[in-house]
Amino acid sequence: MKRFLPMVGIIILSLLCGCGNTDENYSEKELFAMDTYMKLTVYGDNSEAALDLASEKISELEKLFSITIDSSDISRINCSGGGSAEVDNQTSELISRSKQFSERTYGAVDITVYPLVREWGFTTGKYSVLGPEKINGLLKFTGWESISVSGNTVTVPEGFELELGAAAKGYAGEKAADILRDMGISSAILSLGGNIQAVGEKPDGSPWRVAVTNPLSPSEIICTVSVRDKAVVTSGNYQRFFIGEDGRKYCHIIDPKTGFPVDNGLASVTVIGDSGTDCDLLSTALFVMGEDEAVRFIKENSDFDMILITEDGRVVITENIFSDTVFSDIELKNKAEVIK
Ligand code: ADP
Ligand code: MG
Repeated sequence: MKRFLPMVGIIILSLLCGCGNTDENYSEKELFAMDTYMKLTVYGDNSEAALDLASEKISELEKLFSITIDSSDISRINCSGGGSAEVDNQTSELISRSKQFSERTYGAVDITVYPLVREWGFTTGKYSVLGPEKINGLLKFTGWESISVSGNTVTVPEGFELELGAAAKGYAGEKAADILRDMGISSAILSLGGNIQAVGEKPDGSPWRVAVTNPLSPSEIICTVSVRDKAVVTSGNYQRFFIGEDGRKYCHIIDPKTGFPVDNGLASVTVIGDSGTDCDLLSTALFVMGEDEAVRFIKENSDFDMILITEDGRVVITENIFSDTVFSDIELKNKAEVIK
C-alpha cells in the first residue's frame, strides 16, 4: 500500500507567486507545521517583524490543535474520558465554527470522524480496508451534535475524539493574515499545504494568481484564479490516499454518514472566500457531498466561489470567477460548466 504526499501544489505556487519578483522589500519563510509544508511571503517595510509574528501564531495554534502533542487542547479533550476540558479561546472558537459548518452542511464535515480516520490508517500510515462491522462500531463514537462547547469548556462523550485536520490550516491562515493586516501589511501570500491565504494584492497592485492543481495529473496545474484578500482552499483525493489490496483507491476524507472514504466521482473541490476557516471546512464538506449537493449549496451561498473537478475530467465553476480564471488548456475553458 502506498501513501502519496506530493509537494507539487506548493512548488507551483512558489513559481507563480513567490519567486521571480523584482521587489526586494519582502521576507519569506518556509516551515513544516500541521503535517504540511508551509511558505509565507510578506511584502513591505515591516515584513520581517510581521512574518515572525505570523509564523509564531501558526506554531502556537499547532500546539493547541495537534493530536500528536499530549499537552495540546485537542489531546486533553480526547483523553477526558467523557469529562470536560478547559481550552484556549482559539480552540473553543474553532470547534464552535466547525460545529456550525456541520450543521450547515448536514454533517458532511464533522470533526468527530477521527476514530475512523485513524482506523483506516490515515494518521498512522498502517492502512487497512475496514469491514462493515468495524465501521459500524466506530460510527457509534461519532456525531458533531454530541460536542458541547460552553465558554472555554469543551465536553465530548466517552470514546469520542476530535481532530481538526479539516479546518486547522484554514484557521491558521486566517489568523496569520489577521496579524499581518494588523501590522500594516497590504501584500502577502501564505501557502499552508493546499490552503492559500492571500493578503491584499501583489505589490504591483495586480491580484494574486493562485494555481489550482490538476487532481488527475497532480504535477500539472489546471487553472489559476485571481484573488485579492481571499482564501483559496482545495480538498481532493489525489494527495493523501492508499490503494487497497482490492485495487481500489481510498482517500483521506471520510463520509461521516457511511464511515467510508469518499468515492463519489469527485477528484477535487476548491473553495474561494473571505475566511480561510470557512473555506477549509467547506472544501471538505463539498467534497463529501458530491457534485449535485455541492452545486446546490454553492448556489444558495453566493459568498463562496467553487471549482469542482470530477474524476472524468469535467470542470464545474461559479460564474463570478469564471472570466478571470486562466485555464491551462483553452479546450477546458470552453468545456467548463458554469454555475449561474
Ligand atoms: P487537507 O488536510 O488535505 O487539507 P481537508 O481540509 O479536506 O484536507 O481535511 C481532511 C482531513 O480532515 C483528513 O486528513 C482527516 O484528518 C479529516 N477528515 C476526514 N474526513 C473528514 C470529514 N468528513 N469531516 C471532518 N474532518 C475530516
Ligand atoms: Mg478542509
